[in-house]
Parts: sequence; structure tokens; C-alpha cells
Amino acid sequence: MSDDVELVLRSTRVITPEGTRAASVAVAAGKIVAVLPHEAEVPAGARLEDFGDDVLLPGLVDTHVHVNDPGRTEWEGFWTATRAAAAGGITTIVDMPLNSLPPTTTVENLRVKQDVARSKAHVDVGFWGGALPDNVKDLRPLHDAGVYGFKCFLSPSGVEEFPELDQEQLATSLAEISGFGGLMIVHAEDPHHLESAPQTPGPKYADFLASRPRDAENTAIENLIAQARRLNARVHVLHLSSSDALPLIAAAKAEGVRVSVESCPHYLTLTAEEVPDGASEFKCCPPIREAANQDLLWDALADGTIDCIVSDHSPSTADLKTGDFATAWGGISSLQLGLPAIWTEARKRGHTLEDVARWMSTAPAALAELAAKGAIEAGRDADFAVLAPEETFTVDPAHLHHRNQVTAYAGKTLHGVVKSTWLRGTQIADHGTPTEPTGRLLERQN
Ligand SMILES: [Zn+2]
Repeated sequence: MSDDVELVLRSTRVITPEGTRAASVAVAAGKIVAVLPHEAEVPAGARLEDFGDDVLLPGLVDTHVHVNDPGRTEWEGFWTATRAAAAGGITTIVDMPLNSLPPTTTVENLRVKQDVARSKAHVDVGFWGGALPDNVKDLRPLHDAGVYGFKCFLSPSGVEEFPELDQEQLATSLAEISGFGGLMIVHAEDPHHLESAPQTPGPKYADFLASRPRDAENTAIENLIAQARRLNARVHVLHLSSSDALPLIAAAKAEGVRVSVESCPHYLTLTAEEVPDGASEFKCCPPIREAANQDLLWDALADGTIDCIVSDHSPSTADLKTGDFATAWGGISSLQLGLPAIWTEARKRGHTLEDVARWMSTAPAALAELAAKGAIEAGRDADFAVLAPEETFTVDPAHLHHRNQVTAYAGKTLHGVVKSTWLRGTQIADHGTPTEPTGRLLERQN
């Protein structure tokens, strides 16, 4: 090893792109400089951190986080969200453009958000822009200012300052974005199917589920794929829940349409059958569906039809999580719990931590084109999560760092304890306790 190595991270189980192996990872100036044999000599002056048999994973990349700061900071803020991320093994988040005030729909608004985030970031933070019916002229400037892509809704977003696009507006925005090589990420539920679905307010989960039918997702995705094909645009389907859309997506991918897909821990680990009536901490849109649907989502992760798993962490204050599914805020908070929640289910289904690292670090980093993130290999940032995969814990909301400690995972016993998290060679969390904020604001590199 060269003289400038400051830190060596050693484990008998290091998850690298070539597989899991015993290794020593050498770090200099916040970067991985080499992945060496386990017993490699530690250079003079370098510190050794030996994690024994705990697993060294690449730091997780969560490209779907609603931080809501400024403007709805009582829902969530950069201080609390990034502390939760650090505690959960996540080293990079990309913030969604809505639920904050202002939304990230102009360069001026982006700068407002960056100024608020700068001193509070415990992990690296990037930003998505927003595509609205009336901001087509702002898309290129936002792209040049460093957003990683643009989010749009095809049905009402839940907040009035972020209206949805109709099909014509989607085509206009997509053409503009693909003109400069950008990415559109899409909340794909069709508004007409939602309008014609039965709307029965109240505490029954079955009524809520019926109000957000699979057809709404399937149709929106079908239309989106058609537009992406026509314009040769790059699109990403957010938070896929309906497994019915999988054959359509797989066919489009095979055909060369530039479409990628994410799903979320709640669709992959919770089922409609287990949601108690009145338990609106389980409400999200699209909704958590049946167990049989979930099995197909896992198959699609295994065969690559679904690319990545990200949180869609979207909190609100506890008072907005009423017992009525029709009026409660739709959003599930899982930033700190995504890794153990997914690992618990993945191991039961015969998947490995290599799979989990691919779904939760490598693939989301690739989605946002974060070239320095997403793998343990020379040249990347020295971002890591140290996981004890065989250990279990029971979720106690009091130990969660996000602002409002409401969670659909309360009381669940999960496999996988995050022992520590490292960002550019600095430890940012120790046994669930975050340290000082050392995160940076990331901007897309031109
Ligand atoms: Zn979301």
C-alpha cells in the first residue's frame, strides 16, 4: 500500500462487484484506493478498523427521499432525515422536489433548498428537480445547475403547489428533457382510473386498496413506455407496486426502451393482508398490495425487471396520519429501516447480501449516475455500511431519528443490525447514533 493511506477497513466479508471476500480496503483522502487481501500489511501511520465477521457493504444510496425542508420542516428536515439515513447505513440521498416549500422547480428554488441543507447534511445529498405543467423553460437551467433528473406526477400529487402533467404535457416535458440527455422519473398512476375507482372513506384498508387499483398503475406505465419509445427518452418508474405491469416493463426493456424501475421496502416486506384497519401509517400511493403480488415483485428483482429498491421515505406529522385512509397523509417512513427490512425478507427468499447491495447501492447510484458511489472498488468514495446480518432487533420507534417517529415497522423483529456507517472515510454513525454532519451537497457532473 502507498504511504498516503490513512485508513484500512478490514472484514472477512467485503461485498465487492466481483463477489464477497475477506479483504482490507485502503482509504486515502476519502476515496477507496485499493481492495487488498485480508491480511495485507497496514502501512505506518494508517489506522486499522477490523470489523471481524461483520459485513462491509457499499454505503447505501437512496434516491427517493422526501425531506420537506424548508416549508414543511415539521414533517421532516435535512437534520433529522440525514441522521436517520446515517443510522440506517445510507451514505447518499437524493431529495424529491416536492413537499418542501418551495418545491425544486426553478434554479432559484434549488438554491434555497441547498442553502437549508448545507449545514445539516449527515450524508451526501443530491436533488431531483420537478417537472410541472408550467415550468418547461426551467428544466434545462435546473439540469445545468446540477439536479439529477426530473420528477413528475401523472395523477394529483397530494400538494397543490406540485400539479400533475397530462399526457400532452408529459410529452412536451419529456421531449425537452430528452433533448439535453436528462432523465424523467415518474409517479405512474393514471388519474382516470383513480377517478373511476370506488371511493369509500373510512378506516378499512380494503376500501383504500380498492380506491387505488392496479389498473391505474398498469395504464400509466403503458402510456409512459409508449412516450419513452416514441421520443427515445430515458424514464424511470417510481415506487412500482402492481406486479401486473411487470411483463410490459420486461418487454419494453428487451425491446430497448430506456426504462428503469424501482420498488420500495413496504411493497416488498409488508402485505395488504396484514394491515390493520385504521392503521394509516401503512398508507402510501400506490398502495401496499397482496402477498401474491409481492412474490412477483421479488421475482422481478431477481430477474432484473425491477432495478432498485429505495425508500420513498415520505413522512408527515403524526396528526396527519389519522385513522381514515381517505384523508390520512400517504407516505411511509422507513429511511433508517430499509436495509434490515429488505435483508430480513431477502434472506428468507434465498437472496444474498450481494443482491441487496446491488439493489440498494449500485443500481440507485447508476440511476442517478453517481459515479463515485455504489460499490467497494478503487476510485469510488469510501462510503460503507457495516452490517451484522445474523443479529436481530425489534423496531422501537423511539430509536428512530426521523422527525416524526411514526412507522409501519413498529414492533417488527428484523435481521441485520447496522453497526456503523462511513462517509468518505469518516465514521458518521456508531450503533445507530449519528455523529457530526459531514455530508456534502452533490451536483450532477456535466
Ligand atoms: Zn415519493
